[in-house]
Amino acid sequence: MALSLTPLFSGSSGNAILICSERTKILVDAGVSGKRLEQALLSIGENIRDIKGILITHEHSDHIQGAGILSRKHDIPVYATEPTWLACGDKLGSVHSRLTRIISKNAFYIDDLLIEPYDIPHDAADPVGYCVSRGTRKVAVATDLGHFSKTVEYRLHACDLVLLEANHDSEMLAAGKYPYELKQRIKSRHGHLSNEDAADAALRLAAAGVSSILLGHLSKENNLEQLAFRTVTDTLLQGGITPGRDISLGLAFRDRVTGVFSIK
Ligand SMILES: [Zn+2]
Ligand SMILES: [Zn+2]
Repeated sequence: MALSLTPLFSGSSGNAILICSERTKILVDAGVSGKRLEQALLSIGENIRDIKGILITHEHSDHIQGAGILSRKHDIPVYATEPTWLACGDKLGSVHSRLTRIISKNAFYIDDLLIEPYDIPHDAADPVGYCVSRGTRKVAVATDLGHFSKTVEYRLHACDLVLLEANHDSEMLAAGKYPYELKQRIKSRHGHLSNEDAADAALRLAAAGVSSILLGHLSKENNLEQLAFRTVTDTLLQGGITPGRDISLGLAFRDRVTGVFSIK
């Protein structure tokens, strides 16, 4: 196994993605309680003490809730850009200075994993997605996207596997009970990607040669797993791409471990 990606939690109520090479294990975000995250890892035979770093995408609580406590308890370095560190403030709790890693948008290594942060359009201080590669294999986390920007597309086109946001169904959001301002925020160009937008993005990624797409960060209120999956499947089929034959299409669960996706 060269590289694997395991969504532990993926949704508006918490995100944590495990990425492993044979010798290095890291988390992208830790947005549930430390205890839940430790238990999720144990349920798949992994131990929090083996995690070499937590990469933070942005300061929203569904991405950082457990990061501070896990860092303090298990001596895990936390990586984030400077504006994100500042914006996290008290929400993260204190992270020991020797475990604080301030990153730029330049690539860096954690052991044998090459980490490439990239800008994402989202309403946070300095939000980033991450591409992680080991040798010629590359995976990416691309959630919390207001739109599928050229930068994001460029960064993802060479990946084997992409965890792609499919946050909401536009009609469910419009008809739902969220206040007007929140609806506007979610569907803005710095909010979240709809199923329809995810479908267009998936088609472009498939055409670029991405072999696996996992849909994630689904909203509990404004989406359904089947609806997200069907919307993306239909668009791929219309574009001449058959899921299951030309591309592997899956879905990351909101509140439980989805499974281990290995790139051979
Ligand atoms: Zn989020
Ligand atoms: Zn967010």
